[in-house]
Amino acid sequence: MIPLIDLRKQFQSIKEEILKETNKIIDSGTFILGPKVDQLEREIEKRLGVEHAITVANGTDALVLTLTAYGIGEGDEVITTPFTFFATAEAITRVGATPVFVDVDRTSFTIDPNKVAEKISSTTKAIIPVHLFGQPSDMTEIMLLAKENKLLVIEDACQAFGATYNGKNIGSIGDAACFSFFPTKNLGTMGDGGIITTSNHLVAEKIRMLRVHGSERKYFHKEIGYNSRLDEWHAAILLLCLKHIDKWNNQRGVLAERYRTKLKHCTSIKLPEARKDRSHTYHLFCLESPNREKIIKHLADHDIHTGIYYPCCLHLQEVYKYLRYQEGDLPIAEFLSKQLFAIPLHPFLSTEDQEKVIAALLDIEVTEKC
Ligand SMILES: *Cc1c(COP(=O)(O)O)cnc(C)c1O
Repeated sequence: MIPLIDLRKQFQSIKEEILKETNKIIDSGTFILGPKVDQLEREIEKRLGVEHAITVANGTDALVLTLTAYGIGEGDEVITTPFTFFATAEAITRVGATPVFVDVDRTSFTIDPNKVAEKISSTTKAIIPVHLFGQPSDMTEIMLLAKENKLLVIEDACQAFGATYNGKNIGSIGDAACFSFFPTKNLGTMGDGGIITTSNHLVAEKIRMLRVHGSERKYFHKEIGYNSRLDEWHAAILLLCLKHIDKWNNQRGVLAERYRTKLKHCTSIKLPEARKDRSHTYHLFCLESPNREKIIKHLADHDIHTGIYYPCCLHLQEVYKYLRYQEGDLPIAEFLSKQLFAIPLHPFLSTEDQEKVIAALLDIEVTEKC
């Protein structure tokens, strides 16, 4: 089977170093929020050019703690995209606020800034753009809208570590940004983890307090907080991965270009577009087809794995029935949820395996007439 992503190969490539670090951590006796976590936070601050990077237990908590730190909660609205992983909206609801979904752009799959303005109300507090599949959202337009309407911008950058927009690092443009270190993300660990970046000192202090039960000084609590901390072991693994992330992201880009070149004339599928003013980290490489099911089956018959991201838009999720959205309300996101499918792309995909994927897609063109 050719998998969508090969985590075994990724972590085997740094296995010896991970084992060395593991030994050191066992001998150190410090396991949570220690020197490795500190080093990871400082390295990410330096790399992204932000004042503060604060690790937490996962990407979902990164969003929840950031919203909480900014005081967003009951009675507030937060504008976001319906075409993302559930956690983006879940975090908004978790803090007591209401997600307001705005349709996405047809070719970038990210929130359409032209449709945001009409959804801004007197209770809107923030916009959460999601850099979907690794491609940055239209940050210039979003930042301008936010400035005009005094809204916060919290980037959901969980899929886009290492991406840039007009030469700026993703994670340094909005008021804050949230990343996930879930194993399948471009920068991931062998478990859960997350990080928040911001240059707002007060917000950073608040998040540091929230992640340890609302306390600045042990056993003295200012607020009801969370237990959302990163382990030394994950920080050590992430520091090792950080050394390779540019190489791994570049390799994803190389593979994406090969797909583009070789599948250029394929009429049964539409290739994803890459905008010129931003870099794409290709967390996922998604093709479009009205005959998705047929193609997925054909690829499965050739031992090629595919995935559907995402089969159900968030405004149509059962849990959000109370928001009273209906099918047809956000037509582009709904259309994409029925057409997109991801094909294998990861830094350890061999040319030979990629050729098999390409051949199978070209083959369906001849035999099946999609
Ligand atoms: C993965 C992901 C999250 C959640 O991250 P976890 O670490 O799994 O909690 C949030 N938003 C997006 C867009 C994601 O891809």
